[in-house]
Amino acid sequence: MAGGQARPELTALTGEQRDRVAKHLRRHRTRCAGCGSTDFDIGDALYLGFLFRSERQDAYLVGLTCAAPACPAPRTGVRLRKTDLFRPGEETADGEDPREAGTTP
Ligand SMILES: [Zn+2]
Repeated sequence: MAGGQARPELTALTGEQRDRVAKHLRRHRTRCAGCGSTDFDIGDALYLGFLFRSERQDAYLVGLTCAAPACPAPRTGVRLRKTDLFRPGEETADGEDPREAGTTP
């Protein structure tokens, strides 16, 4: 099996960023559609604005896996805005955002 293949459009999240996702899930009382659990394993972030022109320019989809062992449909995801996920400077590791280039606070 050739799992774990690196995909450039996926952004691996740091522990701190996963923590922000977890807070977002709690704030919005996000539940698993399969079993109703609120316990998720937080995966990578996919930049949606890159793939779908109808999406907001700053929309990310963060992969979630329901942590309930008996869940019938454990794979899901949550949409987050870039500002909910990243702090200024964090997201520029592998790409430049032209809207922010050259702006100094
Ligand atoms: Zn579930």
